Parts: sequence; structure tokens; C-alpha cells
Amino acid sequence: MDRDKILLTPGPLTTTLRTKLAMLRDWGSWDSDFNAVTAKLRASLLKVVHGDETHVVVPLQGSGTFSVEAAVATVVPRDGHVLVLDNGAYCKRAARLTSLMGRNCTLMPFDEAAQVSPAALEDKLKADASITHVVLIHCETGAGVWNPLEAVAEVCARYDKGLIVDAMSSFGALPIDAREVRFDALIAASGKCLEGVPGMGFVFLRKAILDGRAGNSQSLAMDLHDQYTYMEKTGQWRFTPPTHVVVALAEAVAQFEEEGGQPARLARYTSNYHTLIDGMARLGFMPFLDPSIQAPIIVTFNAPGDARYDFKTFYNAARQRGFILYPGKLTQVETFRVGCIGAIGPNEMEQAVNAVALALEDMGIASGEPAI
Ligand SMILES: *Cc1c(COP(=O)(O)O)cnc(C)c1O
Repeated sequence: MDRDKILLTPGPLTTTLRTKLAMLRDWGSWDSDFNAVTAKLRASLLKVVHGDETHVVVPLQGSGTFSVEAAVATVVPRDGHVLVLDNGAYCKRAARLTSLMGRNCTLMPFDEAAQVSPAALEDKLKADASITHVVLIHCETGAGVWNPLEAVAEVCARYDKGLIVDAMSSFGALPIDAREVRFDALIAASGKCLEGVPGMGFVFLRKAILDGRAGNSQSLAMDLHDQYTYMEKTGQWRFTPPTHVVVALAEAVAQFEEEGGQPARLARYTSNYHTLIDGMARLGFMPFLDPSIQAPIIVTFNAPGDARYDFKTFYNAARQRGFILYPGKLTQVETFRVGCIGAIGPNEMEQAVNAVALALEDMGIASGEPAI
């Protein structure tokens, strides 16, 4: 079988042939043709969040985490104090990189099966005036929770705290409007809901804070202010750009716009999500989260209660049928995850459910029902 496997993972994910074909050319990093691609891409990205008036966008080489690290180092003063609203694995990663860069960092723990609480945040900001910045993960990819961005941003604005949003797994699919939501930095990447290939991130920086951030980063390669200044001056990336990744993303964004932008993407992923959970429910599976806080990005399912269940065997049986599932990332209960994102539609989700049904059959498991 030479069809690529369908990736039901939160990036890398399944891309269109058109996006893959865009990578079959070589580009000079100093050449005006390539500079034009970068410029057009940056303008398109700003439009996704309606940020022309308020923000700039700075692309950066590397996986998404590189850009989160770069954003914190660029935006948070060295004597700043960062509060990370923690309801999962990506929150803990953000806290760890913040501490490693020498910024004072406090974790505010929430249940991984619940949203973070804007009211609790407000109490915390009242109690501790030393906090300068808040980090929020928009969609916590660990369990799949859709966190309340607007309400958190409103509290941060009222207390005049900087807000840094990791929108890696939500950008392009969930609505984000910079005209209504105040953030100092918002981070996303090429290989998630924009359906490009992995290899670069990009950070929206609020213009009002930008000037004050020259020389703030302790890193050369990750300094977004420097990357921005150089790019504005020359049209080029400071250091070797991932040229093929950039042109693939530009092609992916063109398709995103043709599809109808963020609302259309959310609609397709929502329909993927419903096809998935309806099909899985027929097989007895239970989603881990309450549907009211579930983002239609990635779904965590409780593992079947049957003693014959084993994730490795299950994974391989689905893989044989052409579908790549994702392991769970929760601390308390055994789970697995299925992504709803990528260049796929309800047909592929229906086929994925069939693959899961056949995998259960292989293992001699009658139902995906979890142990209670
Ligand atoms: C994917 C993702 C990242 C970045 O992960 P990388 O492996 O560095 O690409 C960061 N935050 C969230 C919420 C993500 O989903």
C-alpha cells in the first residue's frame, strides 16, 4: 500500500498534495522571489488574527517550542515574574523553559480535565503584585481542553499584565481576534491547523511593547526583536531560513484562504470531531473530557477496560489499516488520543473509526467501554 498513512496526531499532520508539491523547488534565501514569499506569508498570517493595527508577526526557524522559548525570552524582562496557568503537559513545558531562561516563574495548577479559571487568576493577581506576565495555553493539546482566552485576556488587560498565549494547536481553527483580545505575544507554528509541514514557528508581538524589547533576550538565535528588525530592514531572515517549509506554508495558507479561512477550518474540524466521537461511541468508547470544554482539535479517549487492551498492539493494528493514532499524555488514567486536524474530512474520520473497530476485533475486545 503506497498511500501515506493518515496522521491523526497534533502535528505533523496530513497535508495536501498541493502543499507537498510546493516543496519541489530550490530557493535562494537572499533572492527577491523568496523575500516576496516571506512578506506575503507574514501579511496573510497577521490577517488571520485581525492584527494589522496592533501587532507584527515574526517567523522563526525550528519547532513550535523554539518559538515559545523565543517569545518568553523576548517579551519578559529579565526581572519579570511569569504566572503559568497550568492544566496540562504543554503548560508545564512552558513553565520549564521560562525557569531555564532565568525568569521567575510560578505555576498555578488546575485540573487537567477542566479549563483554567479566569476568576482564580484574578484572585492570584490581586494577591501577588510581583507577577508581570501570564502564560496561557489556548488549546491544551495534552488532554484537548479549549481554554477561555477572551476571559483570561480581559483579566490580564484589567490588571495591566502582559499575556503570552501558546496558540500552537488552535491557531487557524479556533477564533482569535487581536482587535478584542489583548496579548503581548501569541505563538503558533507551520505544521498544525494551517496544515503546512513542520519546521518553523511564528510569533505575533504587540507593537506597543516592541520598542522596549531590544536586547532583552539573552539568546542570539532566539531574539525575536532582532529577527524582526533585520527582516523589516532587509526583507530577509537573519539566519538560514527553512526555505521549503516556508513555501509549503505559503501554499497551505493559500488553500486555507480558498477554503474560507478560520471559520471554514473550524467547521471542517468540528465535523471531523463529531464523526469521530459518534463513531467511537458506537464502539463503546468514552471521551475523557466533558464536551463543553473540548476543542475540536484532539480528542482524548479512555482506554478500554478489557484486560486484553494494550496500546502498542492497538496502535499497530490501526497503523496496519493506514491510521496513526497518538498515545495519551495524562498522569492519572490510561488514555489515547485521536487528532481531528489536518487535510482530512469526515470520510477519513469514518475510515479511522472502522480501523479502530477492526483493531478491537484483532485483539478480541468486544467493546471500547472503559473500566469505571
Ligand atoms: C505542538 C505544540 C507545541 C509545540 O511542540 P513542538 O513539538 O515543539 O512543535 C507547543 N504547544 C502546544 C499547545 C502544542 O500543541
